[in-house]
Amino acid sequence: MSMDPQELLSLCKRRGFLWPAYDIYGGLAGLYDYGPLGAALKKNIEEHWRALYVLGEGFHEISCPIVAPEAVFKASGHTDAFSDMYVECTKCGETFRADHLVTGLHEAPASLDEKQLGRLLKENKVKCPSCGGELTDPKRFNLMFRTSVGAGKGKVAYLRPETAQGMFVNFSQVYRFGREKLPVGAVQIGRAFRNEISPRQGLIRLREFSQMEAELFLHPDHKSWPRYKDVKGQVLELVPNKGKPVKMTLEDAVKAKTIANEALAYFIWLTYKFAIDVGLDASKLRFRQHLEKEMAHYAADCWDLEADIGYGWTELVGIADRGSYDVQAHISHSGADLTAFERFDEPKEVEQQVVRPNFGALGPLFKGKAKQVADGLSKLHVGSVAGKDGVTVEVDGEMCSVPSSCYEVVLKKEKVSGRKLVPHVIEPSYGVDRILFSVLDHAYTQKDDYVTLRLKGLVAPIKAGVFPLMARDGLDEIAGAICNELTKAGLAAYYDDSGSIGRRYARMDEIGTPCCITVDYESKKDGKVTIRERDTAKQLRVEIAKVPRAVETLLSGGGLEPVSALR
Ligand code: AMP
Repeated sequence: MSMDPQELLSLCKRRGFLWPAYDIYGGLAGLYDYGPLGAALKKNIEEHWRALYVLGEGFHEISCPIVAPEAVFKASGHTDAFSDMYVECTKCGETFRADHLVTGLHEAPASLDEKQLGRLLKENKVKCPSCGGELTDPKRFNLMFRTSVGAGKGKVAYLRPETAQGMFVNFSQVYRFGREKLPVGAVQIGRAFRNEISPRQGLIRLREFSQMEAELFLHPDHKSWPRYKDVKGQVLELVPNKGKPVKMTLEDAVKAKTIANEALAYFIWLTYKFAIDVGLDASKLRFRQHLEKEMAHYAADCWDLEADIGYGWTELVGIADRGSYDVQAHISHSGADLTAFERFDEPKEVEQQVVRPNFGALGPLFKGKAKQVADGLSKLHVGSVAGKDGVTVEVDGEMCSVPSSCYEVVLKKEKVSGRKLVPHVIEPSYGVDRILFSVLDHAYTQKDDYVTLRLKGLVAPIKAGVFPLMARDGLDEIAGAICNELTKAGLAAYYDDSGSIGRRYARMDEIGTPCCITVDYESKKDGKVTIRERDTAKQLRVEIAKVPRAVETLLSGGGLEPVSALR
């Protein structure tokens, strides 16, 4: 049952999953603390993602700084275009995302410009949702947090609005690390920052959040994807941007060009597998293709995994085929050669564009260094000089500005052993906090006043509650020893000796603990304890020494009757 998000947030606060950050000072919208249970749940979700992408698919995990120089975001387009529009109430001063106020009045509000949005707001006489006051015209607001690095004036820098750019700028390092082969992939799990205009939806719209992003660098002519054949028969719920929502196999979707290519289809499926593994409810998931108006001009295709939660259908993951846009942008802005090299079977005579130094102009300008500058120029990729008045070349650790009169782009016939390629990118981008909140939403069940979080064993913060019937007569010591054994086996256990056993079960059910173990007076005689499974309320007597095995079997979905596993 999807539930009132406020009720879920209040359970999360009460039981130590989430706390509004800096609450004693009135808090700050869009910032949350993860309490002990939330932090453990988040870590478990991230660990599973890592297992799928790093261990399962062979992506290389890297970790880049959160602060990045302005040049990175000039190249990526974020300084110019990473903005939303806001309106302000002339009476109470509150600000709102302008496109959110016209939801339902237009099919793709995010695609409208200031004028179109302003007109739509006026035509529909939209007023301040808080006090009914008049609203200003929409204005653009860049969502990046700007900062400066160093003393005095310092250098302009930004907190990264996504983890992706760190991977694009490191393409050459990742390519080299992967033995100079395509495809090669990088992943990163880390914080991202967006100065959202009106973050009113708990974990769905945060100003500081976590992403798990993968960048798959591919040959530009890629057609097939090796593991696609293993999953092509899988049926998914698709909402294409043309036609009606359909349930179809990935194979049919690729054949009909509904999904652009095999690699994209594979990562859509992997996203689905991840979602089911961490406990999202298949009947409340869909993949929605971006409307043409929503899609970036360079994107070949883009799909969002959406979950139906208390806030309605919500984007959790974006999976985009971004073509060569990102890497090309960094080649053009930095001059770095972020290309892959494709070796031909045999050398070929080709005519290709190269940068040719103009010695006549270089000599007078750079004197003794002219030869080194010329060497630097010859190494540049043509893409990095196109349409520019000049470039920068490094000589002996010093950056030299070279005007365009010092070089030209010419066609040259050469025998070459291969060619340089700007890789294409497929990017699955996951929002951890939204996934975590949706997992809680889908796991929540309530019968009368009794709340159970049906969290899967894989992600549950605590795997087993351990209760001595009484906190005395040696029962407490047996329970303590069981806790230790579970901990040694890597299973988070929680010792609880207060209140009735029913009350203790209820506390564990409410935080999603998959099983509880009770030590009673019989245990002293027969060396067995009772294990109770949360979702079926089934109980089984198990020898104390076999408790960790039994809990492991239960967590892996084996239920409570794995007799052979317990023998
Ligand atoms: P985007 O780069 O906008 O496609 O974002 C990628 C993913 O990050 C989304 O699918 C969301 O899950 C997550 N995300 C984006 N913005 C926020 C935010 N303000 N708060 C929480 N998660 C976000």
